[in-house]
Amino acid sequence: KEGNMALAFDEFGRPFIILKEQEHKTRLRGLDAQKANISAGKAVARILRTSLGPKGMDKMLQSPDGDVTITNDGATILEQMDVDNQIAKLMVELSRSQDYEIGDGTTGVVVMAGALLEQAEKLLERGIHPIRIAEGYEMASRISFEHLERIAHKFEFEATNIEPLIQTCMTTLSSKIVNRCKRSLAEIAVKAVLAVADLERKDVNLDLVKVEGKVGGKLEDTELIYGIVVDKDMSHPQMPKQIEDAKIAILTCPFEPPKPKTKHKVDIDTVDKFQTLRQQEQQYFDDMVQKCKDVGATLVICQWGFDDEANHLLMHRNLPAVRWVGGVELELIAIATGGRIVPRFQELTPEKLGRAGLVREKSFGTTKDRMIYIEHCANSRAVTIFIRGGNKMIIEETKRSVHDALCVARNLIRNKSIVYGGGSAEISCSLAAEAAADKYPGVEQYAIRAFADALDAIPMALAENSGLQPIETLSAVKSQQIKENNPFCGIDCNDVGTNDMCEQNVFESLIGKQQQILLATQVVKMILKIDDVIAPSEY
Ligand code: ADP
Repeated sequence: KEGNMALAFDEFGRPFIILKEQEHKTRLRGLDAQKANISAGKAVARILRTSLGPKGMDKMLQSPDGDVTITNDGATILEQMDVDNQIAKLMVELSRSQDYEIGDGTTGVVVMAGALLEQAEKLLERGIHPIRIAEGYEMASRISFEHLERIAHKFEFEATNIEPLIQTCMTTLSSKIVNRCKRSLAEIAVKAVLAVADLERKDVNLDLVKVEGKVGGKLEDTELIYGIVVDKDMSHPQMPKQIEDAKIAILTCPFEPPKPKTKHKVDIDTVDKFQTLRQQEQQYFDDMVQKCKDVGATLVICQWGFDDEANHLLMHRNLPAVRWVGGVELELIAIATGGRIVPRFQELTPEKLGRAGLVREKSFGTTKDRMIYIEHCANSRAVTIFIRGGNKMIIEETKRSVHDALCVARNLIRNKSIVYGGGSAEISCSLAAEAAADKYPGVEQYAIRAFADALDAIPMALAENSGLQPIETLSAVKSQQIKENNPFCGIDCNDVGTNDMCEQNVFESLIGKQQQILLATQVVKMILKIDDVIAPSEY
């Protein structure tokens, strides 16, 4: 059945999909179209399946310019894959939507969609019309959506007791490469989210959490800074390394004497004239420095650079400066310090200065690397997670994992409902859908049952990835759920000794799980409704 499709690897080791049927046909209609599309979607899901769960495998991806990424984050794997098939691209989009709205569950959503497609294929073969399948799936997804609400728990935490939040983030991190440091990373993520959260309005602005990384040190050295870290140093080594009660001018305008533009002609034919010009330039910059001092600035942060002479003068006039700071960072600095970005130098006024209790330059080990820490800011709501690690790959993967943990904590602050993981919620929904199917007399009941079977794919993948017998384990857990009337039985991936996920404290946010089911259903319905594929003939 898989004969019309092949998974191949290009010269960079990136997987891509060949649909053989399309080699000689430029147009696919009806059942052929659906089957070809389903194959493509399934192929993508199969790649991610082995990455699901705490024992999931990692993928190594190489980009055309030779950069290597190692990850088990679904969205990232798909992002880096070079898929040249429209349906496969839809699956990539699916993972991205889950990432965008929830931030977690990006692998699960694709595996779920793949399973739905696989079941749909069987129904198509039995002659059921794709529209009826789509309708049945829609009903089943609504049944699951509501059932999830019934088996959900309220997750209790206080600003004074953040342990439950930390536990949750640890669940997310346990399936990542960085799980060695999950406790400390989870603590950092939770504290960061709480620092920027508005608990009353249940609102979290993750834009205020900056995740910065620098190669060197150990993962354990990763820290949370209540303020901003900028990967720059003081422009002159003799400038002070520490400034207390800093008043910061944040400039996006040039901070140096105006350079003569090439279209102007400057006649310098005598040494005197040169000296005058030099003096004028120096005077001009000296006035700028004086102006900064007059408004009360004790530190200047600029988007642009200045030359060595200006730098020397700044050092002499005792006005520390940081140059070449990126626009995004300037914005964060402005938010954190309560300052205003100054786009025209004449507009610099005392009110526009940002304030920070402490600005310091920190150096790392024996390397020449230095970074600027801006702490105790006027508006302390901006924080930075500063990741350390042995190489760029680890840092990038840690960034992604920390992002997931941040999202999980944010989701719980927005909505306190949770469902239990390890496939337990899916099994429970599967049972609910199965039971509901009997109430529908029409053809839809087959589609609803198929949906129930597709839900089983998640616990099966978890079991398989943990080295358990997928079918036997699933049926044992299923009958246990029925016998004990306990919707929290799932797959004991880590061999803890109990498969009650409530006891194991393995859970995910309700909205995240609901979103997975909604998005997966949506994309599968969309694929089923395509019955004509017209592609260019060289395809
Ligand atoms: P995703 O990108 O979809 O979040 P993950 O690789 O993080 O994928 O795997 C998440 C799945 O693993 C969820 O179904 C979750 O319930 C399950 N899971 C996570 N930790 C455990 C655990 N300790 N025991 C059993 N299942 C777990």
